[in-house]
Amino acid sequence: MPFLLSSLLVNGTLFYTYSVCSIETTEQDNWLRTTFIQRRPGTSRVSVELSFVVRDCNTFGGASVGCKETFNLFISEADADVGTNFRKGQFRKVATIAPDEVTQGRVLKVNTETKTVGPLSKKGFYLGFQDVGACVALLSVRVYYKTCPSTVQSLAVFPETVADALREVEGACVENAVSQATPRIYCTAEGKWVVPMVQCQCLAGYEATGDSSCKPGYFKPSVSNNFCQVCPDNTKPSASGASECLCEEGFFRAPSDPPTSACSAPPSAPRDLTSMTLPGEGKLQLFWSPPLVTGGRSDLMYSVVCKLCDEASCIPCGEKIRFEPGPTDLQDPTVVVSDLDSHLNYTFTVEAQSGVSQFSAERPTATITTALDYTDPPKVTEIHLDDRSPTSLFLSWTPTRRPPAHINHRYELMYRRKGDVTTYKVLILDKSFVQIDGLIPATTYTFRVHALGPEGNPGSYSADHEFNTFPLGTSTVFGVAVILLVVVAGLLLRKRRLNARRRGGPEDPYFSTDQHKPLKTYIDPHTYEDPNIAIHKFVTEIDPSVIGKQKVIGVGEFGEVFRGVMKIPGRGEVPVAIKTLKPGYSEKQRQDFLSEATIMGQFSHPNIIHLEGVITKFKHAMIVTEYMENGALDTYLKGRDGEIPPYQLVGMLRGIAAGMKYLSDMNYVHRDLAARNVLVNSNLECKVSDFGLSRVLEDDAEGTYTTRGGKIPIRWTAPEAIAYRKFTSASDVWSFGIVMWEVMAFGERPYWDMSNHEVMKAINENFRLPAPMDCPSAIYQLMLQCWLHERLKRPRFLDIVNFLDKLLKSPESLKTIADFDPRVSIRLPSTSGGDGTMFRSVPEWLESIKMSQYKESFARAGITTMEQVLALRHEDIRNIGVRLPGHMKRIAYSILGLKDETSSLSVFAV
Ligand code: AMP
Repeated sequence: MPFLLSSLLVNGTLFYTYSVCSIETTEQDNWLRTTFIQRRPGTSRVSVELSFVVRDCNTFGGASVGCKETFNLFISEADADVGTNFRKGQFRKVATIAPDEVTQGRVLKVNTETKTVGPLSKKGFYLGFQDVGACVALLSVRVYYKTCPSTVQSLAVFPETVADALREVEGACVENAVSQATPRIYCTAEGKWVVPMVQCQCLAGYEATGDSSCKPGYFKPSVSNNFCQVCPDNTKPSASGASECLCEEGFFRAPSDPPTSACSAPPSAPRDLTSMTLPGEGKLQLFWSPPLVTGGRSDLMYSVVCKLCDEASCIPCGEKIRFEPGPTDLQDPTVVVSDLDSHLNYTFTVEAQSGVSQFSAERPTATITTALDYTDPPKVTEIHLDDRSPTSLFLSWTPTRRPPAHINHRYELMYRRKGDVTTYKVLILDKSFVQIDGLIPATTYTFRVHALGPEGNPGSYSADHEFNTFPLGTSTVFGVAVILLVVVAGLLLRKRRLNARRRGGPEDPYFSTDQHKPLKTYIDPHTYEDPNIAIHKFVTEIDPSVIGKQKVIGVGEFGEVFRGVMKIPGRGEVPVAIKTLKPGYSEKQRQDFLSEATIMGQFSHPNIIHLEGVITKFKHAMIVTEYMENGALDTYLKGRDGEIPPYQLVGMLRGIAAGMKYLSDMNYVHRDLAARNVLVNSNLECKVSDFGLSRVLEDDAEGTYTTRGGKIPIRWTAPEAIAYRKFTSASDVWSFGIVMWEVMAFGERPYWDMSNHEVMKAINENFRLPAPMDCPSAIYQLMLQCWLHERLKRPRFLDIVNFLDKLLKSPESLKTIADFDPRVSIRLPSTSGGDGTMFRSVPEWLESIKMSQYKESFARAGITTMEQVLALRHEDIRNIGVRLPGHMKRIAYSILGLKDETSSLSVFAV
């Protein structure tokens, strides 16, 4: 019996069903077949869902012999619909279908069972249901397959995919997105997408939001899943979908700049380009400031180009010149250029560069034209003998560098006979060659030379070179005594001075020395608010009872100066000088008086007057110092003309210089150094004194009010101190020169009777005091050095002490006497007429030349008129009784001078 189509009401719904219920007999074989079901390609399995009702065999009682409660599901595959051509043998069994619940009464129990059928390979299939004796109604058969729906995952599109097993599915990136590998994903048998692989990324100019392209004014530079960014600085606004923002006019990006960076402008020119000559040969350093416009870049670098230019054109400086660290890629705004030629003008062009300079048509640069500017002159290493004769040598030398075009070096050549250590001759030369005449035949001479800088500053000496003159023929008699002048002062002193300048110093570069400085520096008492505190900081208070006054020895500004004694435990009574403050003083005067002690108390040096202490608590304040038996130096020397040999005078000067060196090292400027302010003890040791702060204003009779109101001892004071009160240790050096003169002239008044005004005029016209009679040439040279107009060129006290020490070590060096010009040295006011007749009498004349002691001798010899004086010869003078060589000279020179009609010169020009 076949399945019958009947209707069935299930839960109120009418179903058409195929049913069969042949239970009475056994061995039933009833079939129901579906129509041809097309298989969708790619589907190898289908699900078959059956809903059915099976009746309970028990409800049929004994009549249900063959009753079954299951049926079978079959399938038959075919490539074409075979129509009704149905054969059981073509089917294979898929499953036995058993109900979960059988129906017993009127209420139908509908079962649903799903079976998967596969693998399928043909174009379609038929399902077959075999009943073998059940009472079954087939309500529905649903045949279906599952898919994973088409999807977009990770910016990749995946197609709808049949989900009949776990399957890897390939996809493709969405529009404007790319990936390196094919995007993949799995579709599970349940129709779920799992495990997407490979990410797609948006193209440049696109992002994974909205309509995906970057908005105008935004950009995205590369394939990525980043969002679009706002265009950076100095760019033009972008259109939509921009992968970059283009630079505004005048702004650029370096090739290495990322498109995300702002655009930048090329740098402007470097500023303030300057050059500085460095020590050593041929080196200078260029400096500049970074450009005002750096373009906001950090890759700023500089390059330097060197050229040699004339009015018409420029040529490169060539390979010879070296740049340190290099001519290009300079990170710091400086470069050292070396191997330069000192006589050339170089033009340096400095350009600031950055990564965008190459895009700019304009290349702003800074340019400087400069030459080596040496403060130190070149070295001379070799002296060559070019030619010679018995009495001449022709020498030449080459400096280590040529002078700059605008500067002409001078050279100082010093030579002496070999073996003669004391006498030198010095020549100042404009050229680097010389012919020296007047030499002794067959004699060896030693030469050394050094260049002088533009300011006369010396370079270092060449080594000593020895050259011989040719011998003369036997007939030649060479009786000429060659006198070589001692002129070492300038050489030694200048060298030292240069060193001093190189060493430098905080306040007065001229005088600061590192080595010889005392540890202390002088403290101006005025820096203390209360001078009474200052004085007790530096000075001992003496008990008046230990002091005993003996005798007045002088008068100072504030009162008498006494000789006295001071009782010192252990030392007994020591002689002292006691300066007193006269009664009736004001507090200001008292402080001024004591300020000298406050200053003196800070010094301790054998050539500075030693302060024993002060008495301030007593009614009359007193300053107690060491006693100097021979009193003030100027008075001591007056009248001792010719008595003290030059060697001893130089020794005294050395002492004064040592004291002054000490003061200058203490940064103390004396301002009133003069022989009258130097004291002499019984050993002829000289000590500098007179330190009162107001001394120049009040105390010193030599003090003269200048146009600027200050009181200045004009004759002792350096021009710059007179002109603009520039008092320094260098002006003290000038004064020391005058003291030297005073000493060598035995207390003569500097510039004699010339008025202060005449003195200033003469000094400004470059006149200087002439050498005193019998003055060693070296000492006079030293004076002239002290009186150099340019204060920085004057020697330092250190130099002076060393130089005097040298002279004292070789007393022969004092034997060469400076030229003495009697016309100036003995000039008196009335001599300005210029002839010998202006002296009314011989005694007047003798007085004028400070030789009054010979008045009687002249009278005794019957020399009573000036005419007789003018006729005197050397023997006559000696016969009159003048024996001392100094006096002899003075009188003889004076007579010479009287004879000379041109005796109106006032002082030597230097
Ligand atoms: P003054 O006030 O320092 O100028 O001294 C006046 C004078 O006193 C000086 O010119 C010297 O003659 C004399 N005198 C000052 N101090 C001393 C001293 N320490 N020893 C000897 N005489 C001195």
